[in-house]
Amino acid sequence: MTSITAFGPDFPFAYDDWLTHPDGLGTLPEAALGCEVAVIGAGAAGIVAAHELMRLGLRPIIYESHKFGGRLRSEVFEGSDGIIAELGGMRFPVSSRAFYHYVDQVGCETAPFPNPLTAAAGSTVIDLEGRTLFARTLDDLPPLFHDVARAYANALESGANFSALQAAIRSRDIAAIKDIWNPLVAALDDQTFYDFVTSSEAFRALGFHHREVFGQVGFGTGGWDSDFPNSILEILRVNLTELDDNQRFVKGGVEQVLHRLWRKRVDCAHWPSGTSLSDLNGGATRSRATRIARLPDGNLSVTDQWGRIDSYPAVLATCQSHLLTTAITVDEALISQKLWMALDRTRYMQSAKTFVMVDRPFWQDTDPVTAQPVLSMTLTDRITRGTYLFDNGPDQPGVICLSYAWMTDALKVLPLPAEKRVDLALAALAKIYPDVDIASHIRGNPICVSWEADENFLGAFKGALPGHYRYNHRMYGHFVQDRLPPAERGLFLAGDGVSFTPAWVEGAVQTALNAVWGIMNHMGGRSPDTNPGPGDRYGEIGPVALPE
Ligand SMILES: Cc1cc2nc3c(=O)[nH]c(=O)nc-3n(C[C@H](O)[C@H](O)[C@H](O)COP(=O)(O)OP(=O)(O)OC[C@H]3O[C@@H](n4cnc5c(N)ncnc54)[C@H](O)[C@@H]3O)c2cc1C
Repeated sequence: MTSITAFGPDFPFAYDDWLTHPDGLGTLPEAALGCEVAVIGAGAAGIVAAHELMRLGLRPIIYESHKFGGRLRSEVFEGSDGIIAELGGMRFPVSSRAFYHYVDQVGCETAPFPNPLTAAAGSTVIDLEGRTLFARTLDDLPPLFHDVARAYANALESGANFSALQAAIRSRDIAAIKDIWNPLVAALDDQTFYDFVTSSEAFRALGFHHREVFGQVGFGTGGWDSDFPNSILEILRVNLTELDDNQRFVKGGVEQVLHRLWRKRVDCAHWPSGTSLSDLNGGATRSRATRIARLPDGNLSVTDQWGRIDSYPAVLATCQSHLLTTAITVDEALISQKLWMALDRTRYMQSAKTFVMVDRPFWQDTDPVTAQPVLSMTLTDRITRGTYLFDNGPDQPGVICLSYAWMTDALKVLPLPAEKRVDLALAALAKIYPDVDIASHIRGNPICVSWEADENFLGAFKGALPGHYRYNHRMYGHFVQDRLPPAERGLFLAGDGVSFTPAWVEGAVQTALNAVWGIMNHMGGRSPDTNPGPGDRYGEIGPVALPE
C-alpha cells in the first residue's frame, strides 16, 4: 500500500508526477521565450513559481517588500554561528510531496521534528489545570487521553467516512475521492470544527472535560482549540492528507531551500545552460510592488516603491490577499467583484513565537529525584501553549521555542517587547518546572515574531470560516483564465492564502504550480499531451462548485 500524500481532496491532481514527468511541464511559443513576467513575493510560492517559469524560458522578475523567504524565515541568533529560530513554517509533513521535490532538488537534509509524544522529542510533559503528566508516548498517558483520541477517530469515521476517504487518497482513486468528498463539502461547509466535535456521537457520550482536553492536546501537534471556530472542511483536509503527522524539520533552517533554489543553476528552455534565478534578476530582487495597472497595450504595469514602472504580459501576486487592498493599489477592473469579495473576506489567523538560545541542551540532564529529563517538550493550557526543544548537538548552543501560540494567546503578547514575552513564558514554565532555572542558560537576545504585526503579512495564515468554501473556490480556480473576460486576465494569484490547505507550505507550492500553468497558457504555451497540467485537468476533476 502506498503512503498518504497531499493529493486533493478538493483537486486531486498529482503535482509530484507532473513535476517529475520526463516530457516536462510544457513549452512556450518562440515569440514568448525570454519575456519578462513579474512575481510579487519571494516566499515559497514566488520562488517555486519563478523557478519553473525560468525553466520554461521566461524571465521572472521578483519583487520583495521585506525579507527573502517570506513565512519560511529562519532567523540567526546574533553572536552565534548559524544557530536559528524558525519563525514561520518549521515542521514539514512527509505527505507534502511537491514541497519535498524542491527540498530534494537543492540537497537540503531533514530530520524528524520534536513533536509531542514522538521519539524525536524524547519526552513530553502535558500540563493542564495545574496537573503535570510526564510521557514518552501516548501509551504512558492516563485513559482520559486515550478516550479523547478514540473519540476523535470515531467522530471522523462517522462524520466524514474517514478511512474510506483516506484509502481513496492513498490509492489516488480520483473517482472514489470525489464520490465521498464532494457531498461532504456541501454537507459540512456551514459547520465549525467545534460543531463537528460537539455534535458527534463519540464526544456527546463523553463530558465537557474531554472536549476541553481535546482542544488543548488534540491529536498530532496539539493546540487545536485555536482552530475550533474554523470550517471543519479545513481541519478534515489536514487530517485526511496527514499534514499533522510524520513531520520533519530542515537542518540549518528551511529558508535555505528558497535561497538555494534562487541560486540553483539549471538547464532551461531559451536561457544558457546553468542559468539561475539570481542571474536573471541581476543578483537581487526588486523592492516593494506598490501598484498593478492595465496599460493601453493590454499588458500590466508594476510600479515599485521607488516609482519605477515596468510592463509585463503577466503578473503573479503571492502576497497575502489582504495586501492587494492595503499595500498595493490594484486596478479594480483586473479582478471581478466576486473575487474581490473572496480576497477581502478571507480570514487570517494570528500567531506568535518566542525563542531563546541557551548554552547547551541542558534539558537532557537527569533530575536526580524523578530520573526524568529536567525539561521536556511541553503542551499546556498556560500562555506558552507549546514549548519545543531543539538540540543542535552537545557542543552547540541549543534553542528553546518557549512559546508557539495562536489567536487569543498570540494577541496577549502582541504589544509586548521581546524581553517581556520571555518573562511571561519563563513565569509560566516555572509553575510546571519549579526547580529548573531556564533563565540562567539563556545566551544572546531572544527572537520573537507576531506575524499580524508585520505590514507585509497582516496575519500568520488563512483560517477559513464556515461558509468560506465559495471564497476558496473562486480564488483557487482563478488560474484557469481562458473563461474570464479579457479585462480580468493576466494577474495571477498563488500562495498559502489561495490554497485549500492554508498554514501548510505544500498548499503554497501547489498553487504556485497552478499559476505556472496559468501563465504558460496565457503566454500561448501548453503542457504536453503526455503530461497534462493542472489547468488541463481542472474542468474534469476540479473542486466541486456550491450554488452561489
Ligand atoms: C507561524 C507559522 C507557522 C507555520 N508552520 C508551518 C509548518 O510547520 N509547516 C508548513 O508546511 N507550513 C507552515 N506554515 C505555512 C508556511 O510557512 C506558508 O505556507 C508558506 O511559507 C507561505 O508561502 P507564500 O509564498 O504563500 O507566502 P509568503 O511566505 O507570505 O510570501 C509572500 C511574500 O510577499 C512579500 N510581499 C508582501 N507584500 C509585498 C509587496 N507589496 N511587494 C513585494 N512583496 C511583497 C512578503 O514579504 C512575503 O515575503 C506556517 C506559517 C506560519 C506563519
